[in-house]
Amino acid sequence: MNVLILGAGGREHAIGWKIAQSELLSELFIAPGNAGTKNVGTNLDLNPTDFPALKEVILEKKIELVVVGPEDPLVKGVSDFILNDEEIKDTLVIGPEKYAAQLEGSKEFAKEFMYRHNIPTAAYKSFTAENLEEGYKFLETLKAPYVLKADGLAAGKGVLIIEDINEAKQELKEMLTEQKFGEASSKVVIEEFLTGIELSCFVLTDGKDYVTLPSAKDYKRIGEGDKGLNTGGMGAVSPVPFLTDKLMAKIDAQVIKPTIDGFQKDNINYVGFVFIGLIYDNDEVKVIEYNCRMGDPETEVVIPLLESDFLELLIAAGKKELAGKTVKFKDESACTVVLVSGGYPEAYEKGKEILGTEKVTDSIVFHAGTKEENGKVVTNGGRVLAITSFGEDFKGALKQSYQSIDKICFDKINFRTDIGFDL
Ligand code: ATP
Repeated sequence: MNVLILGAGGREHAIGWKIAQSELLSELFIAPGNAGTKNVGTNLDLNPTDFPALKEVILEKKIELVVVGPEDPLVKGVSDFILNDEEIKDTLVIGPEKYAAQLEGSKEFAKEFMYRHNIPTAAYKSFTAENLEEGYKFLETLKAPYVLKADGLAAGKGVLIIEDINEAKQELKEMLTEQKFGEASSKVVIEEFLTGIELSCFVLTDGKDYVTLPSAKDYKRIGEGDKGLNTGGMGAVSPVPFLTDKLMAKIDAQVIKPTIDGFQKDNINYVGFVFIGLIYDNDEVKVIEYNCRMGDPETEVVIPLLESDFLELLIAAGKKELAGKTVKFKDESACTVVLVSGGYPEAYEKGKEILGTEKVTDSIVFHAGTKEENGKVVTNGGRVLAITSFGEDFKGALKQSYQSIDKICFDKINFRTDIGFDL
């Protein structure tokens, strides 16, 4: 089978790395990919949201399965485009249609879905510029801190957690009337603040049946101790050590199964990954968010733990034949540490030569923001590499990743030395 992965990050490298191990694979393409994905397949110079160009590639390369890595093409309707085009509609697509992708693309849509299907989540109300005054009143009924969320996609920046009520009112006004996050904040969800520890669960579904992948916990802040600005993710651990079988059974019964059953009840055609962000407190879990694709860097720990044939599972999902499928995972822990360009997530330089990755033998080096230039591999983004290792427990895995990182260098390299500090 010929497979095309859309995306350019560590997530897409990890997905490609695993698919490349399948005997069912004929040729693997990644669009646009990075300097690492070149080692597992062929990179194509294609923008994943240029749908006519994508169609050409599917026809020319005889692509039979497309895996959509990031959310942007999904929210823009890449799956609908492929599945509704006469010439390419038989292509299997891993990634939900535009309507279902609103689970990630609209916070209000996700909240309504959760309420409709009795899935535990924070209490909320949503507001537009027309009912700003009601928004102020709703804030007054809540206790600090106040959680304000731009309804649409805002590159991970659209969620504000504010201590002071007057500041919260001011932010609400700016979001709704001054387009603080553009069109994304023309509607704002205000919700109850939840305390607890965050974790993520992942399923692969065909809309009816599903397989559950290992859980993970990621570290979003740039600084040690989870301080400083938000990033795309500085590291992750899988599985989450405090997630007992009993708690997982509860998450399955209260969250995962009702979510998939909800797709059936709402007639939602959902083929792909569901990433469920949860908060755990006092033996209870609540959903913070859904994403309609795998996480990055969580993919770099979850997928390497998979022992089963990943492509076989993806084909089964694409054909809606996941019923009865089981998955096997390594009985180990995995961690990943992300190496970033100095300055990220604010301004940073690109084009720094990356040295030493060939000396890493006991970890997997997943590429993110990298490219090849004049025969050298150079930095090409904020997040550059994700160094994944295994261990009997996550501490052993982390030790290995940090030992491997010692062998890698590029100018102004930065990374967190405390991934897993709170576990
Ligand atoms: P990201 O892209 O970072 O995943 P997002 O923009 O999709 O984020 P959310 O995941 O809904 O937005 O929220 C971002 C973060 O804000 C969460 O990971 C969590 O730490 C915090 N957060 C969101 N909602 C709540 C809440 N109700 N109570 C406490 N913290 C919250």
